[in-house]
Amino acid sequence: MKNPDNKTIAITFDDGYKDVYEFAFPVLSQYNISATVFIITDYIGKRNDWDANLGWIHYEHLNEDEIRFLQKAGWEIGSHSVSHKSIHGMTENEIIYQLTCSKEILEDKFAQRIDFFAPPFGSISNRIRTLTLRSGYKGVCGFYSFKYYKNQLLPGIIPRLAVYRTDTIESVRRKLLRDSNLFKEVLKQNIINFCSNATIIVNTLR
Ligand SMILES: [Zn+2]
Repeated sequence: MKNPDNKTIAITFDDGYKDVYEFAFPVLSQYNISATVFIITDYIGKRNDWDANLGWIHYEHLNEDEIRFLQKAGWEIGSHSVSHKSIHGMTENEIIYQLTCSKEILEDKFAQRIDFFAPPFGSISNRIRTLTLRSGYKGVCGFYSFKYYKNQLLPGIIPRLAVYRTDTIESVRRKLLRDSNLFKEVLKQNIINFCSNATIIVNTLR
């Protein structure tokens, strides 16, 4: 997809919720746009028990048939780990398990090479980048931190700008155009991401 500056952008969805199939797919199809969906392999066709933030509110994840439907429509499938646990506190072996096991399951189920990994809770580090590339992926997609804002990008890292329900058409436009207001959007995203860490804390205490 091209933006007004003639730059290519990619639309991605983490977690693989059913609403991607029900709402995002029909809208994007109207504009002939395909996207990437990052799947949590333990939760294919199940509800989101991993998300402590949402309390009693449960959402369904895409099932295999719905993922295949998107795939046939030209969408790309990526990995969002096996279990959606934060990988920052994990040992190297645990991270490699999350990377390789989810890749194998997705490649087996959907007969497609899985090239990209999006870590749960979004933030990336050089350690995660190295392990992702070593596990056979082409790249890791994470949050657009201040480091990337300053263009200090390492190969294999694909920074993303999140779109939240609090966003407006104007704020999405600022993100797409990467204009002088981008700093404000990156700051907002970092604050929202910091708050989402409550899920990691609650899950640790469980
Ligand atoms: Zn997620």
